[in-house]
Parts: sequence; structure tokens; C-alpha cells
Amino acid sequence: MANLYMRFPGGKAKCLTLSYDDGVINDRRFTALLKEKGLKCTLNLNSGCYAEQEFDDFTSTHRRLTKEAAIGLYKDSGFEIAAHAVTHPFLEQLTPAECTREILEDRLNHEKDYGVTVRGFAYPYGTFNDSVIASLKACGIVYARTVWSSHNFDIPKDWLVLRPTCHHEDEKLPELTDRFISGTPGSSPWLFYLWGHSYEFDFHNNWEIIENFADKVSGREDIWYATNIEVYDYVDAYKRLIFDAGMTRVYNPSAMTLWFEYDRGMYSIEGGTSMEM
Ligand SMILES: [Zn+2]
Repeated sequence: MANLYMRFPGGKAKCLTLSYDDGVINDRRFTALLKEKGLKCTLNLNSGCYAEQEFDDFTSTHRRLTKEAAIGLYKDSGFEIAAHAVTHPFLEQLTPAECTREILEDRLNHEKDYGVTVRGFAYPYGTFNDSVIASLKACGIVYARTVWSSHNFDIPKDWLVLRPTCHHEDEKLPELTDRFISGTPGSSPWLFYLWGHSYEFDFHNNWEIIENFADKVSGREDIWYATNIEVYDYVDAYKRLIFDAGMTRVYNPSAMTLWFEYDRGMYSIEGGTSMEM
């Protein structure tokens, strides 16, 4: 029986993405490090929580950027801007209408401020229920990150209950990192999904965690470095590939070049084209 495996751009079988919350002043050092190392991140921001004035006390928690500083730092940075609700509430405790407003207004605000289309989300405090998920869907949000570590590299199945691999302070991080670097994915490709808040590096005085992680995972030919929405869009487009019943022909109705392995051969197919296999 011939096997069919999704592969990432370039035929790569590994992908790394990061997700950091709240738009804090420590993101300056954090995003500079990621840029230097060529890593991609999604920043989950609350459009109603910007600081009134600039802070320079890096050891306090949750020192947020001013709106002007946030726009200066994140706009056109190559990182993804995602919603995190306007006021960072416990969404499941709001009425459905108020919950929907928190999500939709945050989306609208970010889209105006950063000039992008926002479709990603991280749950404030990691809490939600079915009603919150319904609100996200109604607002056009396609994925939402929880705070539940999966401790694995599986491609998410339920993108609105997205489980990261781990938080950067997870005791399993070194072991997971080594396994990700040295291991070989089989059928399913691997996604390493790291999350946290950059103020934690100053507050706990442990910038070496992310510096060591970045050193280990960066600059590798076999890893695709992507934002959350880039991973979502790629997997979504892959799911829409149309194969004939005999697996001799494939059509890619998306606008993206897609990669897969079939019967031990590597294939790539451009968007909007058909191909004999
Ligand atoms: Zn948060």
C-alpha cells in the first residue's frame, strides 16, 4: 500500500512556530532575538490594554507597550498579529453577546492599527467553553491557542482548541527540543509549538532558556519557520488537494505550492494546477 504524507514548503517534515501574549515591553528584546535567529512568532495582543505611558521597569510583570510603541514594534515585522480579546477577560464568564464583542472589536482594532487581516486568537487566561468557541467562529477566527501542553509534535486536529507543545518554562522543554532536532518524522510531519510571555524571561531572570532554544533550533535546513496562521493556512490548503481515485493525478485548487510524499516519492504542486503522479 502506497502512503501519502503531508510535507511542509520545500518538502520539509518539521515546522517551528511560537506564540507570545499580551504585547509587553519585553517583546522588544524578544522579537530582536527571534529576528536575529530567523524564527517566526505570533503575537497575541489586547487592543484595549495598551499602556498609557512608557515603562522601563523590565522586571515587573505585564508592563505593556503603549499603542504607538506596539505599532512601531510589530507592524510590518513579519510576525503575525493575533487577537487576545479587547480587555483580556475570562471570556466564558461573559454573556455570549459581550464575549462576541470582545473578540470582534479586538479583531477590528488590530486590523485597523496593523493593516492586516486577523484570523488567529489566544484565549486570555487559557479559559473558554463551547459558547466562546461559537463566538470565535462567528467572528471569523480560524484557530485559538489554549495553555494545555501536548508534549508532542502532532499537527492540530481541532484548531479552535489548539494545544501548544509546551510553555518555555516546561521542564520537558530541553528533552522535547532535542527530540525535535535529532528525530525523524514518519508519516505525519512534526510541529513544535512554543508559547509564553516575554516578561517571564526578565521576571524569572531566565533569558537563557529562549536564547538556548533559539540557538538549537535556528538555521536548520529541515525546519520550516512559520507564524501560526502560516501553518494553519498551509495545512488547510493541503486538506483541499484533490486526488483521483487511482492516485495518478492531483489538483491543487489553492493559491499555494504544496508538498507531499507519495509512494516514497516527493512531489510539489503549484497553486491552481493539476499534475500526473
Ligand atoms: Zn494574556
